[in-house]
Amino acid sequence: MARASHLPAPWADVRDRFHERGLRWTPQRRTVVEVLAGTRGHVTGAELVERCRARDPKTIPSTVYRTLDALEELGLVRHGHGADGREEYHVGPEAPHGHLYCSACGGSWEIGEPQAQAIVHAFRSARDFQVDLSHVTVVGLCTECRQAAAG
Ligand SMILES: [Zn+2]
Ligand SMILES: [Zn+2]
Ligand SMILES: [Zn+2]
Repeated sequence: MARASHLPAPWADVRDRFHERGLRWTPQRRTVVEVLAGTRGHVTGAELVERCRARDPKTIPSTVYRTLDALEELGLVRHGHGADGREEYHVGPEAPHGHLYCSACGGSWEIGEPQAQAIVHAFRSARDFQVDLSHVTVVGLCTECRQAAAG
């Protein structure tokens, strides 16, 4: 398989940024970054390990997780938590947002504006607490599941 010599933005200089921080740039890390560069939306660590294994069967999970930690420090990914508490990674420059999870159908939705601002404002004014929106995970029932339960 031909390897792309250039990664798309914002990944283009990731190798230099690893080196700046004294982190080694290895073929395994490159595989992780290449898979992430082709990922949209959310991905769990386990899913990422699977996708990396599809490219390189020798992928070691701990390497994937350590690479994710480094990429999060660089601001290239950001983690939140799924309904079961598992870490989910957001790829790319994306505004922080919370998540709604339906406990019946497993559906998930992003909490965007203006509900996000309402949550942040509610806790700021009532508790002087700064909410980390990327860690707001709300579990409940979606419209369809409530209607199905009622019908
Ligand atoms: Zn967390
Ligand atoms: Zn549902
Ligand atoms: Zn999200």
